[in-house]
Amino acid sequence: MLEWLFFLLPVAALSGWMMARRHYKRRYRPQDSAFSPEYFKGLNYLLNEQPDKAIDVFIGLLEVNSETVETHLALANLFRRRGETDRAIRIHQNLIARPTLSGQQRVQALVELGLDYMSAGVLDRAEQLFLELLQQSPPPSEAPRQLLRIYQQEKKWQQAIDMAKLIPADTKLNTDALIAQFYCELAEPLSKQDRQQAMTLLRQAYQYDPSCVRASLLEGKMLINAGHSRKAIKVLQQIEQQNHYYLSEALPLLQRCYEQSGQSAQFRGWLQQLLERHPQLTSARLLLTRLLQKQQGNQAAQQFLYRQLYQHPSVEGLHQLIQLGEDNHQVLIPLIKEVTTALIHKGDRYTCKNCGFSGRTMHWQCPGCSNWATIRPVEIHLSALEKLLEPSR
Ligand SMILES: [Zn+2]
Repeated sequence: MLEWLFFLLPVAALSGWMMARRHYKRRYRPQDSAFSPEYFKGLNYLLNEQPDKAIDVFIGLLEVNSETVETHLALANLFRRRGETDRAIRIHQNLIARPTLSGQQRVQALVELGLDYMSAGVLDRAEQLFLELLQQSPPPSEAPRQLLRIYQQEKKWQQAIDMAKLIPADTKLNTDALIAQFYCELAEPLSKQDRQQAMTLLRQAYQYDPSCVRASLLEGKMLINAGHSRKAIKVLQQIEQQNHYYLSEALPLLQRCYEQSGQSAQFRGWLQQLLERHPQLTSARLLLTRLLQKQQGNQAAQQFLYRQLYQHPSVEGLHQLIQLGEDNHQVLIPLIKEVTTALIHKGDRYTCKNCGFSGRTMHWQCPGCSNWATIRPVEIHLSALEKLLEPSR
């Protein structure tokens, strides 16, 4: 029953408007009934739970002219939001078929129809429609935006780039960073067969987003495969300036480059400096421990890691220390306690099972995805590992 009340709301508004209009039109013919029999017929269908017939009646009832277009659009949007896209499509198609629409109204109705197709998942129709809308001058802003969504889903990266270039940059959508990602998508499959072409694409990526880590990683890998270890080192090390959170992805590649060019000692020096600049980089700490073990033996590695773990606790570090054969309980137990204390104090207690949002206080509505009762207490503080990467508060 509630559902029908929900539906009746716009219908009531709609009929109220119609009544007023009819009354205005016919004020010189007071003998006419204020209520149309068609209205009652439509209402009857509704009450008998035959919404499709009801819609037909209401569509027929509501004459399309410049004043009622908004009402049609509102009703159709309501249907789309409720997931009843076939009904929304019928209303929009009915609107578009009317010759009385102004050019602007027709464009608006076409955009809405395209959005119906998007939510119905009929991407080919949506694509065709928005491509036609793109020919308007000026094209409606929704056209390149929706086409961008379609081409990303269909992995048509060149078309996605073309669309992203048509969208004006705003704070919500960093199109330049997106374009850089798309160029990387194009470059990746070419990186083995056509290095030159892949490099041209990566240069485009850098042009749109100089801090595109993905482009640097791909360029580094290509240089390694071509045997240019020293060049690869330069490219991969620039990730520290681009976004140091991704350095862990570059470390194994850098290790390979330094070893291939016979500079293992320099690599250790660079890693040590890197850790001083970014002490939260657990991956660098673990790699440095492995290098120490290889070059100076287990004891040196254990001593280094043991001191490090007190300042920068991590489960991975503790695990590595145990693997190094540190079985002295008097040494290990205080350290384990240190690590678990840090995890418990920094870990989030509540996580959203829908979007992954996590926090230290309970929310019944998730601040991340706005769903209700999707946040629940977590018993394992995995999120603490992420918190340890952030500078301490
Ligand atoms: Zn959520």
